[in-house]
Amino acid sequence: MSYVVAVRTLCEFAAKVGDLDLRFTPAPTAQQGIAGHGTVVSRRGKHYEAEVSLSGLYKQLRVRGRADGYDPGYNRVEEFKTFRGDLHAIPDNHRQLHWAQVKVYAWLLCQTRGLKEINVALVYFDIGTQKETMLVEKHSADALELHFDHLCERFVAWAEQETQHRLARDTALTGLAFPHAEFRPGQRHLAESVYKAALSGRHLMAQAPTGIGKTVATIFPLLKASPGQKLDKIFFLAAKTPGRALALDAMELIGKGKDSAVLPLRVLELVARDKACEHPDKACHGESCPLAQGFYDRVVAARQAAVRAAVLDQQALRAIALAHQVCPYYLSQELVRWSDVVVGDYNYYFDISAMLYGLTVENDWRVAVLVDEAHNMVGRARKMYSAELTQSSFRYARKSAPKSLKTVLDRVNRQWNDLYRNQEAEYAVYHAIAEKFLFALQQAGTDITDLMTDEPDSVSPELQRFYFDAMQFSKLAEVFGEHSMFDITTDMSGPKPQATLCIRNIVPAPFLKQRFATAHTATLFSATLGPHHFYSDMLGLPDDTAWIDVESPFMAQQLSVRIARTISTRYQHRSHSLAPIAKLIAAQYSHTPGNYMAFFSSFDYLQQVLDLFAELYPDVTIWQQSRGMGEGEKQDFLARFTDGGQGIGFAVLGGAFAEGVDLPGERLIGAFVATLGLPQMNPINEEMRVRMDQIFGKGYDYTYLYPGMQKVVQAAGRVIRTQDDRGYIHLIDDRFARPDVMDLLPAWWQVQ
Ligand code: SF4
Repeated sequence: MSYVVAVRTLCEFAAKVGDLDLRFTPAPTAQQGIAGHGTVVSRRGKHYEAEVSLSGLYKQLRVRGRADGYDPGYNRVEEFKTFRGDLHAIPDNHRQLHWAQVKVYAWLLCQTRGLKEINVALVYFDIGTQKETMLVEKHSADALELHFDHLCERFVAWAEQETQHRLARDTALTGLAFPHAEFRPGQRHLAESVYKAALSGRHLMAQAPTGIGKTVATIFPLLKASPGQKLDKIFFLAAKTPGRALALDAMELIGKGKDSAVLPLRVLELVARDKACEHPDKACHGESCPLAQGFYDRVVAARQAAVRAAVLDQQALRAIALAHQVCPYYLSQELVRWSDVVVGDYNYYFDISAMLYGLTVENDWRVAVLVDEAHNMVGRARKMYSAELTQSSFRYARKSAPKSLKTVLDRVNRQWNDLYRNQEAEYAVYHAIAEKFLFALQQAGTDITDLMTDEPDSVSPELQRFYFDAMQFSKLAEVFGEHSMFDITTDMSGPKPQATLCIRNIVPAPFLKQRFATAHTATLFSATLGPHHFYSDMLGLPDDTAWIDVESPFMAQQLSVRIARTISTRYQHRSHSLAPIAKLIAAQYSHTPGNYMAFFSSFDYLQQVLDLFAELYPDVTIWQQSRGMGEGEKQDFLARFTDGGQGIGFAVLGGAFAEGVDLPGERLIGAFVATLGLPQMNPINEEMRVRMDQIFGKGYDYTYLYPGMQKVVQAAGRVIRTQDDRGYIHLIDDRFARPDVMDLLPAWWQVQ
């Protein structure tokens, strides 16, 4: 059985030495990189061969990749590297790696075409000046073969180990038993659907209620499907830390199996750089951080130790990294290549420069993706593909900038002012972003890049921050389309007028589409994922994506759901709603005393009802969510909901207590939900409504109704957590009785 390795992976494994050096090396955007490659190719003759696919064998190792170009006229293989700024700023060990790569391509070409010798070229293309610097060496085929053999020999023992691991892993997974004695109700349906989706290479959206064990029900079938489907990796992606913790617990449970024999399965947790960094006061290069110094020399032993561990969560990985004196964050990035299951945040696969996605494409991995609590994806993805520039921050940056940047930054300021000179309303949406402004911004970006390369100490933190914001803004401006809006919000209240510019993504589907298409199978699951067409339209899922609504393990008799049809919580009726709502809460409380939550659409509304309630019913214990609660305060709030306790917690819809909170049994016996949770009607949302109408013909539903009802169902879902729970839900607003709204409530509820 041969082991397949990409040229880049082989070289990074076998030819990278010395320090980790992430000192500012000006990186072009992906688009600039692609455009740069295109420019270089367009300058070559008509017989030039671009993107030459190559592959070769060394023992049981198959090495494959794509050379950027081959010029038969000059018998020259070329590798393009786009950059900005100073060529000399590229660290030596990076350049050494570039040579190693192009020399592998050169050998593969010699071998395929029977060449005795070849010219080997590194072409550095400056995307700012559009100039090429070509470094050429002539090599004989024999010398290149030696180089190739040497690299492969360093890798071959590892490849042998990996092949053995894969065999052992697949054998163990084939015989893997479900980790519990039996499936919970609904759990088998979910697990079988995930399995079938993996077998047919399709995607799945699964709405599955709380308490059925969704995490195990989604990971287990993918592990079972892995050998047959030749899955290289499973990515479990979560919106928040608790989701990651649940996945790691599930892996531990599955990994141990019934007979406690540990599975040969490598599980890796990815955490954000700021959480994993051991030296937050230092920079990521050998002269500053001891864990970056000699990183590539020591990572060899660290990697070997790490692949022997079963579950590498943050603590386990940290211990190995520190034992080998390498940076834990960058060690985790290295280990992605050698792991079977990777647990991390959504952004590692979905954001604009997602590492897991990039590696999947580069290595041609067959991956299965799990998206936990997938109702969060729309909001999170919109943020990933949005960018904002505030003029006040820009002005701070300009003030702190050295004189050499004065002209370019003044130009940005002038163009910025021109953008809103004639804007009469405080907020306005534009269909395009003025070219002149973008050009000025890009020019400033180029000049700041040069400065960061030549005199890094002269760049203030304010200027650096603005620079990164401007880069993100420029990147998104390059791909601006109907999926996003460009809006300007002005502020004329201060001594100087100012404006905030925002590229605001509304429909992330065009960005995510390719990411889903790249995965062999993906399952998105959540307790509230309806209506499914809304999520599949927003997220760009393929047309043949399957949908299941897993039956609830709960019985209608467990929950009394009532609609307060005589109360309107519409904004104009709010003051009239306060007394009826207070009365309703008090009546329910006196009927069945216990712990309740009352959810409101805003802190203001919450406060108004709470004040009246406290005045009318001073004997009832109440707890209040306040704005900006810290982690400790949140824990204190939840700790008040004790078994057998009595009181009412006032909280906001969509807030910290309306989702991901587990208060089983008598810790919570009922919830009041006032309003349909509709997002506020403001110019941004109204513009979004218009756009949604144009794209999907469902402006109101996609902007207001579905996101609002998702919050309502999430909040109400806090009440019944187990099959023994009993509880009450009061939906407070006459609109809850509308058939289209009732359709959005869980099927197992029996509304009275
Ligand atoms: S420990 Fe921190 S500063 Fe050092 S290399 Fe890692 S992330 Fe960078």
